[in-house]
Amino acid sequence: MIAIISDIHSNTDALEAVLADIAGRNVEQIICLGDVVGYGPQPKQCMELVMDNASVTLMGNHDYAVLYEPSKFNAGAENACFWTRQQIEQETNPKKRARFWDFISSMPVKHVIRFDRADLAEVVFVHGSPRRPVNEYIFPDDIYSNPGKIQSIFERFSNLCFVGHTHVPGVFLDSPDFYSPEEIEGVFEIDPGRKALINVGSVGQPRDRDPRACYAILEEDKVRFIRVAYDVETAVTKVLAVPELDNYLGNRLKEGR
Ligand code: ZN
Repeated sequence: MIAIISDIHSNTDALEAVLADIAGRNVEQIICLGDVVGYGPQPKQCMELVMDNASVTLMGNHDYAVLYEPSKFNAGAENACFWTRQQIEQETNPKKRARFWDFISSMPVKHVIRFDRADLAEVVFVHGSPRRPVNEYIFPDDIYSNPGKIQSIFERFSNLCFVGHTHVPGVFLDSPDFYSPEEIEGVFEIDPGRKALINVGSVGQPRDRDPRACYAILEEDKVRFIRVAYDVETAVTKVLAVPELDNYLGNRLKEGR
């Protein structure tokens, strides 16, 4: 089984709860779809936890922004990005500092796992979309407002594709259709004859009105969505304690939006 986590956003409290939950299951490896940092108060702690636990970590738009420059960020996100960069720059242990920069600068934008089985030959992992891996959002509304976009995206992978980026978990089919985890009772049964694109949701800043941390597990023939309650109040307090981080970035955690 493979655990897929995404969009941690420097929220150590949520990440620790998710890692503890994963440790209690029969998971062989953890794949992180990016946005380890940005928005939240503990970028270095989160990077260390992800480096120590994930076998692959892809580049998200916030990781990219810290390494290079933010593109199309609002003021709050941009300030958080510059503050995160400062946290790494001001790390006094040169070995640790180098390890952080090595980690971010070596994040691939795409990961592919090939299985020796006819029904599920290939699984693709990206942060945003298989078309534009770092920055493209695939929203549930796109199935109505932009079905051509969904179609074009589905042409870029052959079986199963895992994404994050919107912080909204669920399953896209090429009909096009979207199913939230609630609609399928948290479990998506893989149909061998049909492509599916799975958004695993966000560990550190869920936006589907459920404040609990979210991640997914790829099992033999299904994908399971998991919610993990964590100490949201503590996470909020940490955000509010950093003047450079907009208070909204803390308060939104309570509502999961
Ligand atoms: Zn994100």
